[in-house]
This record gives sequence, structure tokens and C-alpha cells, in this order.
Amino acid sequence: MQYRELGRTGIKVSEIGIGGEGFENKSYSECESIIDCALNNGINFFDFYNSNPDVRSNAGTALRRYPRSSFVIEGHIGSMWENGQYRRTRNLEEIADAYENFLTRMQLDYVDIGMIHYVDDERDFDGILEGGIMEYARKLKTAGIVRCLGISTHNPDIAMKAAESGFIDVILFSINAAYDMLPASEDVDILFEESTFNNRTYEGIDPRRSLLYQTCQGVGVALAVMKGYAAGVLLDDSGSPFGKAMTPVQCLHYCLTRPAAASVMVGAANTDEIFAALAYETAADAQKDYSTILANAPKHAFHGHCMYCGHCAPCAKKIDIAAVNKYLDLALIQKSVPETLRDHYSLLEHHADECIACGQCMKNCPFGVDIIGKMCQAAALFEK
Ligand code: SF4
Ligand code: SF4
Repeated sequence: MQYRELGRTGIKVSEIGIGGEGFENKSYSECESIIDCALNNGINFFDFYNSNPDVRSNAGTALRRYPRSSFVIEGHIGSMWENGQYRRTRNLEEIADAYENFLTRMQLDYVDIGMIHYVDDERDFDGILEGGIMEYARKLKTAGIVRCLGISTHNPDIAMKAAESGFIDVILFSINAAYDMLPASEDVDILFEESTFNNRTYEGIDPRRSLLYQTCQGVGVALAVMKGYAAGVLLDDSGSPFGKAMTPVQCLHYCLTRPAAASVMVGAANTDEIFAALAYETAADAQKDYSTILANAPKHAFHGHCMYCGHCAPCAKKIDIAAVNKYLDLALIQKSVPETLRDHYSLLEHHADECIACGQCMKNCPFGVDIIGKMCQAAALFEK
């Protein structure tokens, strides 16, 4: 395993890290096997955006079997659990309670990176910087509860502001070959317009993103990468905007060859997915090479593609939107819905037909997904 400096923090992290999504809906022993596989193969970097108390307790119990110095944790500030669901909060009291809960359940005396959670909006960013949230985060740092501060965002403008703020040492940012080619005029709300990839020849990396990576490198702000596989879309011939699937190794190489990139946080649901990422460490240069794939002009739009990130929560009817969308997408690539998939869907606590079309979730989706339409489609497909 290769280790990289996490920007100016003085922390060293494995270039392959583990994101929190793979720990969701898992038993303790499944969480333990992910953590054991990661640590035993040299992965020392974990991002926990999760507010689910079971995930926190499982991960904490599994990690405490290892010396604290053997792993580096990103713990999200502003991710909370309410009525059995994740919710992002900007309420200081809720933030403090949720972080206390994180530390207790994770059995941590300190967190390496206190990550201010999911900031895609300029007003939100300014509110955090000028208001009590940044003050709270800095108090945590002064008290030694967090070692340094980070921010998670999908928006290059927010990431640039964070890099230039002087307060933020690590940015958890969505990077992959598809996102990077989006033109400079796009902001996060219109990233995935139908026209984005149509009739466009590949023009290299969006200069704004390129400038962001260079700026981060220049000021010593590290990039921890999320969405390195674009939630699996890049791994699929039909989904990839390049008309051809990339391998996990090629995706990882793309991310790790961006300036300032320290680690790619892979959302591994099982040990096979960890090993698929670990293959990067022993891959030959020819296996890492992604240039032939990028040479294909992207023609497909990403608009409406669910990345299964869960940012749309909470749902007014407690539907696990990311899970419904995942099952729907899986079903749509088959001729008929397999019984196993129908079973998985039926085991969900709340189903798509409960959607009341309130639209609350759509305001939270950074990828412009027509969630109400997806719920209708899922209900029609799974519940007929
Ligand atoms: S529109 Fe449907 S899925 Fe979205 S929050 Fe409302 S009930 Fe939930
Ligand atoms: S609908 Fe949007 S916010 Fe929800 S999981 Fe999909 S991409 Fe994420």
C-alpha cells in the first residue's frame, strides 16, 4: 500500500480509503470483516458520514480491537439521526449532540478530521463560516477532539472557497473522469442537464476543477475523493458517458493522478470490492491507463442518474430513497424483475407507493434526480 501526506496536516493516509456507505444495513460481523480486510491490507483511512447508530456502534466495536494510531478517521459534523433516518443539520445543539453520539458509539477520544458535512450551497457555506458552526468546529480542534478540519462538497466553487479560507485542511470532493469534464459554467444544480454531454467533444478537464486541484496542492489542502466510480456508473459499458466501462483500477488511477488527491474513499460493501480496489496497488501501468477510454467523446447525459448517496434524506414517509433507486436501476437493466430483487425490495420498511410527492427530497438531491418520478416507476415495477 502506498501512503500519501494528507496535505499540510502531517497525517499519512493510504491512497485507498474506505467510505461509509458500505457499512449501512450490515451486521456487526459484516462490518468487522470490511474493517479487518481493510486494515490487514494496509488501508488506514476511513470516512464515516454515517449517522446510523448501528453503523457507528459496529464500526467503533470493530475498530477498537486495533491500536488507535493504526487508523485515521474522518467524522462528519452535521450528520444526525432522527426518527430512524439520516438528516443533515445546521442546528448547533443538534450538531453537538450528534457529534457526541459519534464519539461515544465509535469509542473515539479524538477524530483525525472533523468533516463539516455536505456543503453544496454558497449561503450555507457562508453561514457555516460566519456562524456558530465553524466556531464549534474550531473549539473541537482547540480541545484536541478533532485534529484538523475538513468539509465535504460536490461543488467546485464551495471547494475553492474552502481551500482559500485557511481554516480547512481536507476537502472530501466528488472526483471522477466524468464529472471533471463538465464545463466551467455548470454549477451543482445543473451539473447533469440533458445537454451536458450531448454534441460535445471531450475538451479535457474543466478549467475550474483543474484550478481547484492546483490551488489545493499549492496551499497544502488535501483532497479526499468520493464518487471515484461515479456510484458504479463508470464501471458499466451502458452507463459510462465514455461509451465503455472503466475498471476500478483505471478509475482509481484517474483520481489519484489529480493534484492534491491524497486518497480515494471507496464505498466497499464487501471484501471483494475492497480487493478490487486493492488491485490498484499491484496493477501494471497498462492496466491503470485510462486515456483510451477518455478519448471517446462523452455523449450520454448523467442527468437523473441516482448516485445512491442518500443526501435526499429525510423522506417525509421514511422511504429509503437511495435503496429504492438502486433496486429500480438494477431491475431496469434486466428483462424481468428477478425474484431475489423483488424480495430485497419487499424487505424495505417503506415502499415507493408511500411517496406523497411532497418534493422535499428533490431539494436535497445534488444530482437533479426526478425522485418522485422514480418512486412512481418503482411502485409500478415492484408493486404490480
Ligand atoms: S417526494 Fe416522496 S420520496 Fe420525496 S420526501 Fe416526499 S414522500 Fe419522500
Ligand atoms: S436521489 Fe439524489 S440525493 Fe438521493 S440517493 Fe439518489 S443521487 Fe443521492
